[in-house]
Amino acid sequence: MFLDQLSASLRQYYPEEDLAFLKKVYEFAEKAHSGVKRLSGEPYFQHPCRVALLLSSWKLDLPTVSAGLLHDVVEDTGISKEDVSLQFGPEIAGIVDGVTKIQELKSAPRILRKMEDMRKMIFAMFRDIRVVFVKLADCMDNIQTLEYLPEENRERFAREALDIYAPMAHRLGMFEVKGELEEKAFQSLYKEDYEQLRDRIRGLYPGMEEKIGTVTQKLEIFFAEKNLSVKIKGRIKRVSSIYWKIRQQKLHLEEIRDLIGLRIIAGSIQDCYVVLGLIHERYTPFKEGFFDYIATPKLNGYRSIHTKVTDDRLELLEFQIRTEEMDLMAEFGVAAHWKYKEGAGTGAEEKQEWLRRIYEWQNEKISPEEFFRNLKVDLDYDEVFVFTPRGEVKILPRGSTALDFAYLIHSDIGDHCRLCRVNGRAVTIGYLLKTGDRVEIVTSRNSHPTIDWLEIAHMPQSRSRIRRWLRTNVKRSL
Ligand code: MN
Repeated sequence: MFLDQLSASLRQYYPEEDLAFLKKVYEFAEKAHSGVKRLSGEPYFQHPCRVALLLSSWKLDLPTVSAGLLHDVVEDTGISKEDVSLQFGPEIAGIVDGVTKIQELKSAPRILRKMEDMRKMIFAMFRDIRVVFVKLADCMDNIQTLEYLPEENRERFAREALDIYAPMAHRLGMFEVKGELEEKAFQSLYKEDYEQLRDRIRGLYPGMEEKIGTVTQKLEIFFAEKNLSVKIKGRIKRVSSIYWKIRQQKLHLEEIRDLIGLRIIAGSIQDCYVVLGLIHERYTPFKEGFFDYIATPKLNGYRSIHTKVTDDRLELLEFQIRTEEMDLMAEFGVAAHWKYKEGAGTGAEEKQEWLRRIYEWQNEKISPEEFFRNLKVDLDYDEVFVFTPRGEVKILPRGSTALDFAYLIHSDIGDHCRLCRVNGRAVTIGYLLKTGDRVEIVTSRNSHPTIDWLEIAHMPQSRSRIRRWLRTNVKRSL
């Protein structure tokens, strides 16, 4: 039962009393999707459930997990954003609305042309970064159940995962998500290349799974004997990441030796060093393979001890030793960071902190403000994307002014436009709109078009409205 699973997952980091709310959301979403099935025959509702479960595994807050359950109701059922807001409040409705908007953007054919721009646009829209988390979780589930999607959608989903969402996850430091999206998309889009490489790896290094199993088991006993409580995760490098490594570093498969990685999660930093000592005692360390990123973290904030060793059969093993928190940060980046700022509100100062975080991860030598502005503005579009005060996106041709925006909202608002506020600051109606601007129009019954407005307006539609107003009112005054 999904609700039990989800509750158990949330209970690890949320108090019990909040879970009554979750139950309400769950039942609402279940009802909204009832009767709809996926190609696999499973009820559609299982998809939002898995999305919510994934979000809770990233330890995201209750509104985000709730939005995960609700993320498809506005797009796929008769429920409106207002309904969601009425039921569960504006915060959750806002996140659901953001996810819905990303979906809508996709159907705009001009935007679809350039995936790169699409990605930037989504970033420009993340007034609330939780929208991106839900979208990433949605994408993760879609790519993992690709074979159950209608065939005509499969390629588009895989392309989007590879071109939009994997780079986005990378940007947010969510490396586990990035790796998984790339692997599944690669497998689907380049089936033959994928299978060929996978089979070559298996041929060259047979029995890797078994080996990981035995090594893990032996180590578990070894650490238990030393009274150390640790978690051990073993994994084989993903086919897609081997593929990129071969291509980028111009290597042969035979030269890639770090195919098996073992991760040891220790209870404290001190224990990490104890584990390191014990590993070096048990195996023969490789001098070149040792990095202490706990003592000196990487510029992107990554912390972990890396060491390469050989076992008695001279086979290479790569260890990463870190605490639980470091592990969460390394895999889930910004999403994991969310957990550590719980209860602190979401004020402007904190948003700045977020941006600084993302910026640090990228190690770009620009200020966070500049970084964000670049994300928003370095689009080479013929259009600008602006927001209404309620956060709706409006698309206008480049060169449009605040007056055009007023006319786009409603001809009556245009005709009585007095002044505008852009991002909270008062500007004239001739203000040149920029992507990411939040525009608010102040009207007055006493304001009306004058002949100069024809110069101020950029869009032909606005100009013809102004001309019409002038014609009608000149007649009237005569
Ligand atoms: Mn979905």
